[in-house]
Amino acid sequence: MTNKLRYFVANWKMFGHLNSVNSLNKVINFKKKNKKTKNLKIIYCPPFTLIHPFIQKLKNTSIMTGAQNCSFTSKYGPPTGSINAKMIKSLKCEYVILGHSEKRAKGEKDNIINKKIISALKCKLKVIFCIGETSIQKKRRLTKKILLSQIIRGLKKVKNKKNILIAYEPVWSIGSGVIPKIEDLENTTNYLKLFLSNKMKFKNPKVLYGGSVSPKNISILKKITNLDGFLIGGASQNSDKLIDIIKKTFN
Ligand code: PEP
Repeated sequence: MTNKLRYFVANWKMFGHLNSVNSLNKVINFKKKNKKTKNLKIIYCPPFTLIHPFIQKLKNTSIMTGAQNCSFTSKYGPPTGSINAKMIKSLKCEYVILGHSEKRAKGEKDNIINKKIISALKCKLKVIFCIGETSIQKKRRLTKKILLSQIIRGLKKVKNKKNILIAYEPVWSIGSGVIPKIEDLENTTNYLKLFLSNKMKFKNPKVLYGGSVSPKNISILKKITNLDGFLIGGASQNSDKLIDIIKKTFN
């Protein structure tokens, strides 16, 4: 399992100022010096204000940068305060997180997420597409139904799935310190992969897990045989913790 894990996405959320860029030094050195990390992809997703400084800092390294959101249109226009995929791509940014539950909680619906995904792919950004059930939905045993509906609606009319990573992030797990039971997570990941291959025409679906991943629980999470990596929020803002998570994954 461990040599299959590839992606470590660091979602910095609304965190960081210009000097925070210096904290990347440790991770850059770690990635450079550690042979075991050759095949893994670290993707930093800082707030918009830090995308350009991160790209500059990560130039000539194998670490990549992503945005945390984009507009539903790639046309220039009036929506004050919005940033579109074309603008993000122009910074040489490679990824964008879409469908995050913190945006869904503020009213972002599947049809808007769908437009964002189409726009991002058109602008040649790779998409980290977040899906996940709330605790009420979980209690009502609706997890699988919700996940499938988010996928079907979010990927409506999306033909080429090559540049889409699925991030399964149970809403109740984000920032709570609680992670799913291993057998549940393994089961959900299997279910998602089968659905993505058989019904959504993904060639080689990649599924990441996100929600309270930390140096404390990574030795449990790494046992899940079918995951392709992790989306890490809070813990990724601290370079020591991020390195610790990566090291423990491969130990
Ligand atoms: C996230 O916001 O995508 C996330 C996974 O957060 P955390 O790791 O802090 O739960």
